[in-house]
Amino acid sequence: MASIPNEFIETLLDRIDIHDVVGARVQLKKSGKDYSGLCPFHSENTPSFTVSQQKQFYHCFGCGKNGSAIGFLMEYEGLDFVDAVKDLAQLAGMQVPSTENHTGHKPKTNLYAVTEKATRIFQQQLKNTPAVIDYLKNRGISGQTCKTFQMGYALNQWDALIKRYDQSEHELLKRTGLTTQNDQQRTYDKFRNRLMFPIHDKRGRVIAFGGRAVEAEQKPKYLNSPETDLFHKGNELYGLHLARKHSNESYVLVVEGYMDVVALHQHGVNNAVATLGTATSTQHISNLFKVWDRIVFCFDGDSAGVQAAEKALNTSLPLYLDHKIIDFLFLPTGEDPDSFVMRHGKDAFIQAVNEATPLSDFLLKVISNGININSIDGKAQLLEKAKPYLNQLPKGAFKKMMGQQISQISGMNLSITQKSTVNKSENSPAGDNPLRKLISLLLNSPQFCKNIPNDLKLRTLSFKGVEIIDKIIEIQSLNPQINAAAMLERFRDSSYSPYLGHLMRIYDHLDDAQKALEFEDIINYLNQLTSKVEIDRLRNKQMQSGLDSTEKQILVQLLRQKTNQ
Ligand SMILES: [Zn+2]
Repeated sequence: MASIPNEFIETLLDRIDIHDVVGARVQLKKSGKDYSGLCPFHSENTPSFTVSQQKQFYHCFGCGKNGSAIGFLMEYEGLDFVDAVKDLAQLAGMQVPSTENHTGHKPKTNLYAVTEKATRIFQQQLKNTPAVIDYLKNRGISGQTCKTFQMGYALNQWDALIKRYDQSEHELLKRTGLTTQNDQQRTYDKFRNRLMFPIHDKRGRVIAFGGRAVEAEQKPKYLNSPETDLFHKGNELYGLHLARKHSNESYVLVVEGYMDVVALHQHGVNNAVATLGTATSTQHISNLFKVWDRIVFCFDGDSAGVQAAEKALNTSLPLYLDHKIIDFLFLPTGEDPDSFVMRHGKDAFIQAVNEATPLSDFLLKVISNGININSIDGKAQLLEKAKPYLNQLPKGAFKKMMGQQISQISGMNLSITQKSTVNKSENSPAGDNPLRKLISLLLNSPQFCKNIPNDLKLRTLSFKGVEIIDKIIEIQSLNPQINAAAMLERFRDSSYSPYLGHLMRIYDHLDDAQKALEFEDIINYLNQLTSKVEIDRLRNKQMQSGLDSTEKQILVQLLRQKTNQ
């Protein structure tokens, strides 16, 4: 991340206008000195999303999201930091300095070229293999759907793919996981005689493949690319690049296999994604919640399905905020979404989704499973079993409601920790302290830094946040023209980052002149405070071990200042 030079980021944020970047994606209206619109990150009817041109900063009062143009693109387009910077640089006609060489990472660009080429080869091979086309037709999959998902076919040969690449590309091919090596160091194609599903990242670039057996006796039935530089299973979801285009749907479906995603798409259900042979991860859920407010997990009704659902439940609890919804859809035993939608059609499937089990009901079921809640023992057991689940939930109305419900069923009072997982108050450098205000003013108007007296000894105060102020001052001194958004960007990797975004807002109601007055007030106050601390320290020392002549002088001076104030 830090591999793009800060100076570049600052110039970039100076050249582009956040109003253009956001305005191209969200309808904005002038409101006072800022712009406002409907927040793209949570659903609302009245605008609580604002964009400040002056600060080059956006903020939503509804969901609390905030940041610079870079942050907005990351959030809105689902990009990582480097990609967001690249997109903005293109907009500004700037060339991102090449970074990949001195970070120790090998460039990924060539790897994408290899996977894209393989995708085309597999697609061509599918066109020339009528038996597999028939197989797909029998499963109700059209040519158009195959094209949408770029599906293909890997020939039943050891070297069909490897032969298509130059010797010089073989190393890259291996790094994408498309070839593999046996004990005798012989390299051969990993996927043979398989229906190929390219796995795309959020931007639609091919990063890996899934191969499905086309013959009944072929094992394993599903084979995925290994983890590579491009592919990390726990982050990626199959079909997300297509489903994202349907972010206006009120929910996203999470299914288990790529054939489920493809079959649903074939029947007009376009908002489905699949995990890739792993359990649902925290990363998966938070990625999905960035786009949709409701997730419907879809599982087979058999015991393996219920087990997978319990895992998903456990992963979901800490992320289950009050304005989010998670439901569980259990299909009849023996059915998966693929077979269900084929047999019963889209309407029946949507109906099943609408009747899915809410997380609260499923949670109660899991907690009370195997317990006789009519016995006194059972009630106590229920209470014990509920605690670890409830403790995982973020603070809020839902947690409270679940706690009450459990108390009611058990007839006993349940005390649960109101642990907060989203509010990073433990990272807050300043609770209610004057440095909080100073940080806010310095972030808003970095040029104030030069008006901080050199002899202001903030470190003698026991308030947290001094290190942030030092850092802001240092950044500003090296780059006197830095604007608010660029300043905030410099803290992107810091644990304070979300907190600073919020601090940025506390003086929004003031104009520049009022901010300058406020700044003066705070500096005066801090001056008095630090003098008082220093006077106390020197007096203590005087009583215990006496002062040297310099210290005496300082004390006299401080006391004189104090009486003048
Ligand atoms: Zn919002």
